[in-house]
Amino acid sequence: MATIRFQALKESQNRTPVHINEDRRRSEFYGDNVFNNTTMRQFLTKDSYNGVLSAVEKGDKIDRNLADQISTGMKEWAISKGATHYTHWFQPLTGATAEKHDAFVEAMEDGQVIEKFGGGQLVQQEPDASSFPNGGIRNTFEARGYTAWDPTSPAFVFGTTLCIPTIFVAYTGEALDNKTPLLRSLQALDGAATAVAKYFDKNVTKVTATLGWEQEYFLIDSALAQSRPDITLAGRTLLGHSSAKGQQLDDHYFGSIPTRALNYMRDLETECMLLGIPVKTRHNEVAPNQFELAPVFEEANLAVDHNSLIMDVMDKVAERHHFKVLFHEKPFAGINGSGKHNNWSLATSTGVNLLSPGSTPMKNLQFLTFFVNTIKAVYEYEELIRSAIASASNDHRLGANEAPPAIISVFIGSQLTEVLDELEKVTDGKLSPQEKTDLKLNVVGKIPEILLDNTDRNRTSPFAFTGNKFELRAVGSTANCAKPMTVLNAIVAKQLKEFKVEVDKLIKDKKMKKDDAIFNVLREYIKDSKKIRFEGDGYGEAWEKEAKKRGLSNNKTTPQALKASVAKKTIDLYDELNVMSKVEIEARHEIEVEEYAMRIQIEGRILGDIARNHVIPTAIRYQNMLIENVKGLKDIYGTSFKKHAKEQMEIIEEISGHIAKINSGITDMIEERKKANKIDDAEKRAVAYCDKVKPYFEEIRYHADKLELLVDDELWPLTKYRELLFTR
Ligand code: ADP
Ligand code: MG
Repeated sequence: MATIRFQALKESQNRTPVHINEDRRRSEFYGDNVFNNTTMRQFLTKDSYNGVLSAVEKGDKIDRNLADQISTGMKEWAISKGATHYTHWFQPLTGATAEKHDAFVEAMEDGQVIEKFGGGQLVQQEPDASSFPNGGIRNTFEARGYTAWDPTSPAFVFGTTLCIPTIFVAYTGEALDNKTPLLRSLQALDGAATAVAKYFDKNVTKVTATLGWEQEYFLIDSALAQSRPDITLAGRTLLGHSSAKGQQLDDHYFGSIPTRALNYMRDLETECMLLGIPVKTRHNEVAPNQFELAPVFEEANLAVDHNSLIMDVMDKVAERHHFKVLFHEKPFAGINGSGKHNNWSLATSTGVNLLSPGSTPMKNLQFLTFFVNTIKAVYEYEELIRSAIASASNDHRLGANEAPPAIISVFIGSQLTEVLDELEKVTDGKLSPQEKTDLKLNVVGKIPEILLDNTDRNRTSPFAFTGNKFELRAVGSTANCAKPMTVLNAIVAKQLKEFKVEVDKLIKDKKMKKDDAIFNVLREYIKDSKKIRFEGDGYGEAWEKEAKKRGLSNNKTTPQALKASVAKKTIDLYDELNVMSKVEIEARHEIEVEEYAMRIQIEGRILGDIARNHVIPTAIRYQNMLIENVKGLKDIYGTSFKKHAKEQMEIIEEISGHIAKINSGITDMIEERKKANKIDDAEKRAVAYCDKVKPYFEEIRYHADKLELLVDDELWPLTKYRELLFTR
């Protein structure tokens, strides 16, 4: 009997929305659990407060004495918020977050205990982290790893724990996490972008990247989710026939949010407010039970931390509401998957968005400079961007005709295309006064008006300019945003460095005016990077052909896509900018290909288990019922029984056919897994899992899903799509 399924259904149908108390204005408690400037001023001495500020703003070092003062203030604040423990909170290369809680209390010699938290404990810790992936770094160097405080991301209290955002590095200096390369890329970007921004405003002292992510997810009743081993273990369904009603009617998108889900979101948002995560929008997405959450954008490092944190918080709050959050990029076949758009821009210390056109021709030349350089950077490193968003789960999405294709291209809209077309015609060399006036008035000067009515929206582009920012849409919903952000920051930094060299050269050697030089270099960049620009339908087959002609990459699978992450071009880039060493790059690649193979291996095992131990026995049970029925008909009707048993006998045969296919499919898949496991080279093993093992998934699933349609609903053990997706 399919008891688990029916018990789960019963449980899920008896749920009522959890009551949420929202009696305080959100602005009253926003950031209450964050050690932010206001609380720091309250709990820190003037010296230590200033010490933190200059560490945040200028990257100054905090000495031991100061650290002791800061940690004491931080501890007092955290205890006042109910914290009993503290943890260094970091993002190892598993992609998740890690924490190990230590209590503040320490035993004294006289048997008493006191609360203690010293500067040393704040600044540096050595987690016993030997089980985190390190791609051989620590084996090679026999070094231990340690976590170190990142003062640019404020500490916070979650539950009863003071969480201190940290980096995680080996004692030999290699980064073992996602944050360290991100911080290094931000530093490189700051250097390069500030130098270029100074062409337009001498007062700019710092440029930071800004990130506004949009998190898509599914909410599934926890009892129903637990009734499915595939959801529990792999975060997605590996089989299941599509529901008669799916998303065809588009009736979920932006529709009214079901109360249970809404109360979950309100509860979640309250937690976010306390944690200083500025969540702003919530709405239904395209698929049933699919939703989206987005904050106001923030400085990129903080935004990445907030996204990692919110994914944890979402899980925890979901428990209170008897939901399971599915972050997987493709939890259900046949309906939309989930992504995480990364809106990215550049902000100056003077408060200017460098990708936002301004009110004067000079401001607009500044906009065009950063705009064109970004496009050129994406052109040069499109394959690296693709590699930064590659994962076994995101492979289901990219190129699957619902999300951006695996080809990276840039969409800017027809009006900005016209502007670039005009700029392409700028005279080679010095510009005549007439031409300059003309450009200023009719091309550059018109940009703000153009953008105001730029309603051009292309949803199929993986990298689109949307008014005052670029939007990288190909990022997967499970991803840690640090990876794509590191790439984007680094490639734009490199590009801006080159730009500055070229412009300065024209000014010096050709005695050009600054504007003339900028126009000249931009003209060449526009011509050089034209191939990356695409305004058409990114989902179509025509684009695949066209992109191939243009020489753009189209890496459909993770093992293929990851190659670019260890290419010489990437190693040179990261080396030049001090983002990552060759050792760090290769370690990451090793971890990623290994993880890919393991994920496919795990899914293969789960699928084999469900199909052999749940599906086939159920099919046989139903087949036996049919056989009994046929035998009975024979007893009654004698030789003419076939007239009455014809359909039943056909189903009996059909069932046998599907069982045979499933069983032989599993046997063959296991054989391929065994072969793949014998391959020593991790990259080749990943390729084998991709090309030889994964194709069986579809085949096995096809037959299992056919059986789902044939077998008595009462017997079917796996909670069905319609039940998972339409339970409210
Ligand atoms: P959608 O893509 O759903 O149409 P919008 O175009 O309104 O939504 O984009 C909103 C997202 O863009 C928000 O997450 C917001 O934080 C982000 N965003 C807006 N301005 C910037 C910026 N300057 N830098 C980074 N992200 C930004
Ligand atoms: Mg978006």
